[in-house]
Amino acid sequence: MLVPTSLDEATAMLAEHPGALILAGGTDLMVEINDGHRRPDGIVIAVNRVPELRSWRHDPAAATLTIGAAITYTELLSEPLALFSPALAEASRTVGSPQIRNAGTLAGNLGTCSPAGDALPVLAALDATVTLVSAAGARTMPVGEFMVGVKRTAIEPGELIVEITVPTARGWQGYAKVGVRNAMVIAVASACLVVDEREQRIALALGSVGPTIIRCDEAEARLGTALDWATMTAPDDDLVAFGQLAAAAARPITDHRSSAEYRRHAVGVLATRLARRAVAGGRRSTAAA
Ligand SMILES: Cc1cc2nc3c(=O)[nH]c(=O)nc-3n(C[C@H](O)[C@H](O)[C@H](O)COP(=O)(O)OP(=O)(O)OC[C@H]3O[C@@H](n4cnc5c(N)ncnc54)[C@H](O)[C@@H]3O)c2cc1C
Repeated sequence: MLVPTSLDEATAMLAEHPGALILAGGTDLMVEINDGHRRPDGIVIAVNRVPELRSWRHDPAAATLTIGAAITYTELLSEPLALFSPALAEASRTVGSPQIRNAGTLAGNLGTCSPAGDALPVLAALDATVTLVSAAGARTMPVGEFMVGVKRTAIEPGELIVEITVPTARGWQGYAKVGVRNAMVIAVASACLVVDEREQRIALALGSVGPTIIRCDEAEARLGTALDWATMTAPDDDLVAFGQLAAAAARPITDHRSSAEYRRHAVGVLATRLARRAVAGGRRSTAAA
């Protein structure tokens, strides 16, 4: 195992071994190795001691938060990061157990790119960007382009996720998921709603109901029009219709966790619930901009 202690060292190692396995918290990778889905016989590069990947920065002028790839869920759900990105904190709180949250990272969730990854609907609803680095240089792309399909990403051999940038909260935002129990559970359906009061825009992203995360243009437009932005109120019928449009946008499958029909129903219920929470709490919970 190689353990770089700087970003330059990490990218040089990756240039020399472009097929190396990248290890962050290991909470997905070690499971895949144990199950025989990934082969540990090549080079493994452990990136969680790279300081550039372990840091974050807030840019008040741009109203953005940039999160190093190896920041853990425990850090994301704690202040100050939780104040800048409440939905990411809320999603982080639902991941696994304290042990998993202490080790698991945002880049690991992106690297695995499961449609059930809890951070992914939040990043999609926030229009996050992902920055990748290789020995040849850096490139930044929208998270929607990064997530190519079920467990497929736009990462090329020799590349490393360095950081993820999201806008800081400009209104109410929240995450909700349904699983087969209340804790330590992979989502059967999930949703993230982001209200941008500055731009007067709604964003809704769905998880676990398609090959990758789904944004819901029609539902977003419906709620954006129905909402009285001055008072942050909307008729309840529109919130129900918002959920129905979300359910219609889902492309679920039936598998060992759930039927497609239940997933579609559940994601619609989640969307309506989030909208009701946004309308009830929108004025109170606007966080740091
Ligand atoms: C018991 C248990 C419960 C879990 N519960 C949940 C849950 O509730 N919700 C959920 O979403 N997930 C859950 N997971 C899955 C896992 O914890 C998350 O997906 C986590 O974010 C993975 O992060 P990691 O740092 O451990 O990644 P790793 O396992 O180290 O890596 C995962 C993948 O990402 C790649 N990768 C990591 N860092 C980088 C980087 N910087 N650049 C490029 N590629 C990189 C790796 O090569 C690998 O392919 C659970 C796992 C376990 C074992």
